[in-house]
Amino acid sequence: MKAWEANIRKVIPYTPGEQPKKDRMIKLNTNENPYPPAPGVQKAMEVFDMDSLRLYPDPKASALVNVLAEYYQVSPEQVFVGVGSDDVLAMAFMTFFNSEKPILFPDITYSFYPVWAEEFRIPYETVALNEEFKIVKEDYYRENGGIIFPNPNAPTALELGLDDVEDIIRHNQDVIVIVDEAYVDFGAESALKLVERYDNLLVVQTFSKSRSMAGMRIGFAIGNPVLIKYLNDVKYSFNSYTMNQTSLKYGVEVVKDDVYFRETTGKIIKTREHAKKVLGEMGFTFPDSSANFLFITHPEYRAKELFEALKQEDIYVRYFSLPRIDNYLRVTIGTDAQMEVFYDFLRRYMKK
Ligand SMILES: *Cc1c(COP(=O)(O)O)cnc(C)c1O
Repeated sequence: MKAWEANIRKVIPYTPGEQPKKDRMIKLNTNENPYPPAPGVQKAMEVFDMDSLRLYPDPKASALVNVLAEYYQVSPEQVFVGVGSDDVLAMAFMTFFNSEKPILFPDITYSFYPVWAEEFRIPYETVALNEEFKIVKEDYYRENGGIIFPNPNAPTALELGLDDVEDIIRHNQDVIVIVDEAYVDFGAESALKLVERYDNLLVVQTFSKSRSMAGMRIGFAIGNPVLIKYLNDVKYSFNSYTMNQTSLKYGVEVVKDDVYFRETTGKIIKTREHAKKVLGEMGFTFPDSSANFLFITHPEYRAKELFEALKQEDIYVRYFSLPRIDNYLRVTIGTDAQMEVFYDFLRRYMKK
């Protein structure tokens, strides 16, 4: 090792799901939305004023902040926006998790959490989900430097009831509790209604899944104005212009079209419920999903082999080679037509 290498910040990076580019693939591996964004985005693209790109964007991202505040019936001082919720979460880790005590999150969860903790030198402890992959709230009733968990959890898709979420927040009022609601719009109950009651709660959501905008990179957090101010202080100390002009413009269009939002999330929920039935009949088991994906396992077929076989047919799902979950596949809910191709393959595979 060269001497200068000793001073380098070394991190084991998060590995995102693959983004293969094939013409006829069925892509069920990164929980994207199978439907296009709201039609208002296309219209806004057609009249986009290219000359405006000469100028820096609004550092406050006011247009987007205001439309979100109105939609979620909070004040603009309670809204923070960022480049996908990954950016929002990274800022939140940096801002709120500065204790000597370990932060807590589930052992099976979004695999970015340990990466940020390592990167920012935040001590952490993972808390085991129970045998059924449920978060046991009592396990979070102990001293810690902060708490984060997704609800519904990923990759299990299981929702923790809002009463239990509130119990975790209530027992931890001396630290910040972050609820990562990347999948909440697919039928789970949001902790947003608790924001007025608990000033230590930060709720984080994203446009990447339910709002079909993964490519635009938009995420946001809602919480007490004091929390949002601290988040903004860190953001301005890092990069004042995280949100580019196009994201701001198209993001606003997406929030404005609530009818389309309800229609597309409703379709995905319907396809998911049907998928539960079809896959259940094939012998798969899975935690009951409140998200846009299912976390499936089968007593007779190895997940890894099935994953490889699917890939041969250009059907992409997600496999995690990790303790406790290495015989599971995470399958994003696609359109009905995409799911039929997936089911057809499974039927053929199982006959062999
Ligand atoms: C997808 C996801 C995110 C990040 O989404 P962005 O695309 O960065 O907004 C954050 N948390 C969980 C649990 C996710 O599944």
